[in-house]
Amino acid sequence: MEIRFEKSSHLKEKPDQKNLGFGKYMTDYMFVMDWDKDKDWHDARIVPYEPVTLDPACVVLHYAQETFEGLKAYRTAEGKIQLFRPQMNARRMINSNARLCMPAFPEEMFVEAVKALVKVEEDWVPSEPDTSLYIRPFMFATESALGVHMATSYKFMIICCPVGAYYATGLDPVKILVEDELVRAVKGGTGFTKCGGNYAGSILGQVKAEKLGYAQVLWLDGEQRKYVEEVGTMNIMFKIAGEIYTAPIEGTVLPGVTRDSMIHLLRDWGYKVNETRLSIDDLMKAGHDGTLEEVYGTGTAAVISPVGELRYKDDVVVINDGKTGELTQKLYDTLTGIQWGKIADPYGWTVEVK
Ligand SMILES: *Cc1c(COP(=O)(O)O)cnc(C)c1O
Repeated sequence: MEIRFEKSSHLKEKPDQKNLGFGKYMTDYMFVMDWDKDKDWHDARIVPYEPVTLDPACVVLHYAQETFEGLKAYRTAEGKIQLFRPQMNARRMINSNARLCMPAFPEEMFVEAVKALVKVEEDWVPSEPDTSLYIRPFMFATESALGVHMATSYKFMIICCPVGAYYATGLDPVKILVEDELVRAVKGGTGFTKCGGNYAGSILGQVKAEKLGYAQVLWLDGEQRKYVEEVGTMNIMFKIAGEIYTAPIEGTVLPGVTRDSMIHLLRDWGYKVNETRLSIDDLMKAGHDGTLEEVYGTGTAAVISPVGELRYKDDVVVINDGKTGELTQKLYDTLTGIQWGKIADPYGWTVEVK
């Protein structure tokens, strides 16, 4: 793929690496490529970061034909820059797009575009402990025409932002509210895709949780509100009597790259991982009879997020005294060790950019 490069006349000042937060500082450049019915994908370019101009009748503004991805570039102690399983993000986006009737952005092009942009922005990949460059590929319908239909033109873009350590002082367990009224996804819907609409529909649940003093929502299945599925932007795993439980990938749950990687690690360590439906009643029961040992969310942003408390209706369980569990910590140390090149990567998960 030929990528045109347009140099910026003004580079931004880099933010303090100790106060990056998440998603606040965008880098100098972005990758853009266009698709239309007659020309397929064309005009790959890396250009100065700038606003996108859209016609008010643009399809995405009315019918939310939009998908996205999220991955990171990590700087190793030796100054190398590496990605973590970017092919999985590429394939997931192809699956998301297929569900939304959007054209596929081919896997090799996806990885090549990410690498090219990260190379241009290599000075933006931070070096402070636990920092990284968050990469956000996304795609949306650009055609201007009202009426719900498959659009005739789309844009694929990638933007990046340096991000800080998710937890300022090590892993910090969060409190989670089980949502018993609103639902996130149903079979046959778009739950397995990373499409903008899924998140628009989830904000009300998040607002409700925050009002009650909870950090996140745990969604139940959309049909019976009986089985645990996932958290807002994380998959979730439970350690019950020594075995791991997590919701199966059957159309309603997002197939997380972190989830898949943790399952690999856990099985290699000899754990039984049950990708099966777990009812909220059985989960709360395990919380009360002492067999619920650890709970953690998994996702690219935080890697692992220990859960210290679960509330379902008026029932509350505290997990592991509200402290980070041993296995949770080991998973975090191992996965981040591989991502930052601190420990060997026997799985071939890391992809070198430079
Ligand atoms: C992105 C996301 C995840 C986590 O996926 P990763 O590939 O591990 O980052 C889980 N659930 C939802 C709803 C998500 O949007």
